[in-house]
Amino acid sequence: MLEDHLPPSAGSLRGVAVEEVLLAQPRGFCAGVEKAIKALAWMVKVFPPPVYCYHEIVHNQFVVSEFITQGVIFVDDVDSVPAGAPLMLSAHGSAPEVVEAARENGRVVIDAVCPLVTKVHHELKVRASKGYEILYVGHAMHEESVGTMAVAPERVHLVEDEADLERATATIPSGTPVALLAQTTLSHDEWRHLVDKATESFPDLWMPGRSDLCFATTNRQAALREIAGRADAVVVIGSANSSNTVALTKVAAASGCPRVLLVNAAGELPDDLSGVVGVTAGASAPERLVAEVIDRLNPAKGVTTVVTVEEDEYFPPPPELRDLLRQLDDGRAAGIQEALRQDRTTSAAEVLDELAHRA
Ligand code: SF4
Repeated sequence: MLEDHLPPSAGSLRGVAVEEVLLAQPRGFCAGVEKAIKALAWMVKVFPPPVYCYHEIVHNQFVVSEFITQGVIFVDDVDSVPAGAPLMLSAHGSAPEVVEAARENGRVVIDAVCPLVTKVHHELKVRASKGYEILYVGHAMHEESVGTMAVAPERVHLVEDEADLERATATIPSGTPVALLAQTTLSHDEWRHLVDKATESFPDLWMPGRSDLCFATTNRQAALREIAGRADAVVVIGSANSSNTVALTKVAAASGCPRVLLVNAAGELPDDLSGVVGVTAGASAPERLVAEVIDRLNPAKGVTTVVTVEEDEYFPPPPELRDLLRQLDDGRAAGIQEALRQDRTTSAAEVLDELAHRA
C-alpha cells in the first residue's frame, strides 16, 4: 500500500472545512465503463442523431445526461427503436432475446457489454447445457442480473439472501449437479457467507476458477477498507442505482466507519462533516465529481491518497464497432483509424470532455 499526500488547496472558498481527506485508489471508472463510454461516444460522433442506447450506458446520472445532451435516446425496449437506427446495448449485458430483437429491422447494433459480464453469461450457458442447476447470487431487477439469468432461465435460482438459498436448495433434486455464479458487482460481504452456506449444502458445488466478482469491484472495495476504519465519515460518489457503488457503502459501514454518505455530486454533501473524511467513487462515477467533492470538503491538512493496487486493465472497443469504423470511407477515415490506435491511452473522461466542447 502506498500513501501520497497533497497539501491543502488554496482555491477552495466555500468548503465544508474538514480536517483531512483520505482518498481511495483505485476508485471511479473501471475498464468496462471506459470501454462502454468511449464506444457510445464513437456512435455519437459517426452517426447523425439520434443514436439509441438500450438501458443506461452505465449507471451514473452525469454520464447519462451528458449523452442525452449529445442526442442519445435511452430506451428500455429495443422494439421502440426505428428500423435502421444505430443502437448501443449497455455495459451491463442484455438478455439473448433482447440482442436478437435489437439486430432485427436493419438496426446498426453495437454491444458494449463488459467482457466480465459476458464471462458469467458463458459460464451459465455452459453449466446449464451440462445439466447443472444454477444458484445465481445477485440483485433482482438489476439489469445485469436480469440479462444474465435470461441466458438459461429454466435452470437459474436467484439468491439474494440465505432464505432464497434455503428455498432453492429445497427444490433441487438430490444428485443434481449445482453451480454457484454471481453478479460481478457484489460486495464480498454479501457474497462470502452465501458461498459458505451453499458449499455446506452442496459439497460438490461448481464455481468458476476465477471469481465472478470483477477485479474493479474487488479493488475498489479493498482500497476503501484501508481508509474506512481511519475515517470519521466516508463519502461514496455515484448513483443509487449503481450496484458496485451501493456495495461500497456497505463495505464502508462493515469496516466500522460511523458515517457513510452516498452522493451524486458535491452539492449533496451536508455542511456538518468534520474530522477525517474518506472519499471514493463507484466504477461509473467520473473523476471530475471526485475533484469537486474534495474541493467542497476543503481539507485543512490536505489530501492523502491511499493506493492499494495500480490497475492497468484495458478492454478494447467492441469488435463490431471496430469493423464499422474501418468500413467508413468518408474523409474522416484516416483520423478515425489513428484515434482507434490511440484508444488504450485515451480516457473516457477525455472523450466526454471532447464531446461536451464540440461545436
Ligand atoms: S464493474 Fe466490473 S463488471 Fe462492471 S463494467 Fe466494470 S469491470 Fe465490468
